[in-house]
Amino acid sequence: MSHKIITILKNKVSKKIWNNWFTTFSIKEISEEKAIFTVENLFIKDWLQTKYGSLISESIKEATGKYLEFEIRYEKENNDPSVEPDAHQKGPLVKRKPLMISKLNPEYTFESFVSGSENRALCAVSRQIAEMPGRYNPFFIYGGVGLGKTHILQAIAHKSMEVNPDCRVLYITSEHFLNDMIESIKKGSVKDFRELYRKKADILLIDDIQFLIGKGGVQTELFHTFNELHDAGKQIVICSDRNPNELDGFHERMISRFQMGMVMEIAAPERDTRYKIAKRLAKRESYDLSDDITAMLAENIRGNIRRLRGAIIKLILYSGIYNTNSDISLAQQVLASYVPSGTASKRKDELEMIISTIENLLDVERKKIFGKSRKKNVVLARQIFIYVLKNEFGRSITEIGKLINRTHSTVIHSLKKIEKSVSSDSDSSVADIVNSVVEKVMAASAAS
Ligand code: ADP
Ligand code: MG
Repeated sequence: MSHKIITILKNKVSKKIWNNWFTTFSIKEISEEKAIFTVENLFIKDWLQTKYGSLISESIKEATGKYLEFEIRYEKENNDPSVEPDAHQKGPLVKRKPLMISKLNPEYTFESFVSGSENRALCAVSRQIAEMPGRYNPFFIYGGVGLGKTHILQAIAHKSMEVNPDCRVLYITSEHFLNDMIESIKKGSVKDFRELYRKKADILLIDDIQFLIGKGGVQTELFHTFNELHDAGKQIVICSDRNPNELDGFHERMISRFQMGMVMEIAAPERDTRYKIAKRLAKRESYDLSDDITAMLAENIRGNIRRLRGAIIKLILYSGIYNTNSDISLAQQVLASYVPSGTASKRKDELEMIISTIENLLDVERKKIFGKSRKKNVVLARQIFIYVLKNEFGRSITEIGKLINRTHSTVIHSLKKIEKSVSSDSDSSVADIVNSVVEKVMAASAAS
């Protein structure tokens, strides 16, 4: 019977959630009145209680026919602390699992982060944060898209757990924080929400704080979270696409909190670093990128590392289609569109091509894209225009804002909107449009 509860529960949650939270969840005891479960991690115990309490309750009901009271206990793998583990015991020694609160990308570590002199100081400070939390508090990292902010943030998270397996690390995106907050308000569980963020973490890492621009309510919540953690000496690490004092629409008091500790900019990788990153990225795809092509890429594709990765993927794809390897002229042709058009007139041409492609593809006149219309198809065209400029052609938010006469936060909002559609599985049409725009502009610029 005990099995049944677990099976039922397992069917109620997604596989991902199960793997994140329930792997050590087991039944210890079950009587007429009460069910007792155990987990091997203190944080998970609290989390399961607050987030999945009612699901567990339901599962018990379905399995036993009644709503039993239940309790989740935290029990270490070795439940008798007085007994030293026998060094000669058979089988592998169980490595203690770190108290990983958040799902991290296992590839985002310090070891895999390539740095030249441009980010040496940043890496050194980031490592110190992981080794001696609280020393620079908060630690605020800012810089452009695709320069490795999320990578560094998660590297700090990994390292902290490596240095101290008892360290409770909570990594979240600002969007996640906002959604959690809204959900807790809806469900009437704000207390639990606050408990989680304010009491449970030893290190809180918040990604993409600029997402909260203009969202006063959640900023206030974050402000209190921040203060409580900071007062308790807990490390806070934040990253953003811009300097704290450029976070327009953020409460002044928040900005000054951000500036209290250490603020560092993540720099775009220099040529040598780009070369090393390109080699590494190709290796990860098991592709042998020749030195001259690597050099060409490193020379020409600056800034956003995702673009470098995109170019390599495209190259791999094309070399498969044309059945050639390391042909520099093919590489030049394929990569023409990734190479920044140096002169102002070339940049203008590129812009013109993007606009006319969107006009044609979505059948929306350009004056509407630049105008004030809120009609659905016009808004979509405008958002795609913004997205493509930023993410595919490396234009800055400020530049785009000026171009279409919109505020920073409007531009960011549009980016988020399209990012969300592009990354969701359910809506591939937006991703298709974005791809078509990029392909057409690339084809046109390669032909010119
Ligand atoms: P950001 O959060 O600043 O937009 P990411 O951390 O998501 O950027 O980085 C984009 C991609 O580029 C990731 O796959 C990341 O691993 C990779 N990357 C960025 N910088 C480096 C670097 N210096 N060395 C290795 N990989 C990098
Ligand atoms: Mg990021």
